[in-house]
Amino acid sequence: MTLPLLDMPVHLGWLERRLEAAGGVLERRTVRGFAEAAAEAPVVVNCTGLGARALVPDPGVRPVRGQLVVVENPGVEEWFAEADPASSATTYFFPQPGGLVLGGTAEADDWRTEPDPRTADAIVARCARVRPEIAGARVTAHRVGLRPSREGGVRIEAEPLPGGGLLVHNYGHGGAGVTVAWGCAEAAARLVG
Ligand SMILES: Cc1cc2nc3c(=O)[nH]c(=O)nc-3n(C[C@H](O)[C@H](O)[C@H](O)COP(=O)(O)OP(=O)(O)OC[C@H]3O[C@@H](n4cnc5c(N)ncnc54)[C@H](O)[C@@H]3O)c2cc1C
Repeated sequence: MTLPLLDMPVHLGWLERRLEAAGGVLERRTVRGFAEAAAEAPVVVNCTGLGARALVPDPGVRPVRGQLVVVENPGVEEWFAEADPASSATTYFFPQPGGLVLGGTAEADDWRTEPDPRTADAIVARCARVRPEIAGARVTAHRVGLRPSREGGVRIEAEPLPGGGLLVHNYGHGGAGVTVAWGCAEAAARLVG
């Protein structure tokens, strides 16, 4: 198959520039409750991913940890992905501008954000079974992410806020949040009216 492949730091930078071009302003800070956000805007859209577990609160939101290894690309030009139905481990590699990304894992309820060296070795070994030249490739980075999974799937729902504001939830995208981002955003925007 030929499919779109995103390099996330590049993609997030592009989204940020789109937001700014549309007149949006990005401000980074921790929100401790929706009332805090509602004090500044009549409509609050909650896209807090794993943060929704404590903020909503929604105990159905849980992490599914994913670990990756980035290596200098030894000449791989095509992506590869293979699921093993007998385990939570998937074997994949994606050529990206910054190197060859090797994966992966899907560890439910695992909050560790530090890379595990044994997991990293296992990822490299699995990928090298498919493309032996990966075994000798120099490791340039380790990455760990927590997928914001939710029992019952994505929650896109509106509710009134005390004081007259509107709260629109859009969280729980698990391992497919990039794939479904535009559709979920459109569904959430429809609830804003
Ligand atoms: C290894 C790995 C591989 C993946 N591969 C794919 C793939 O191939 N395709 C795909 O579609 N998806 C993939 N995903 C999943 C995808 O990354 C997620 O589904 C997506 O990032 C979820 O987006 P989100 O905006 O809902 O949540 P997040 O990206 O988690 O963003 C939530 C944001 O809210 C912020 N936040 C939380 N609480 C608060 C608070 N109280 N105050 C202020 N800010 C707060 C957080 O800091 C964060 O910036 C992968 C994930 C991992 C880890």
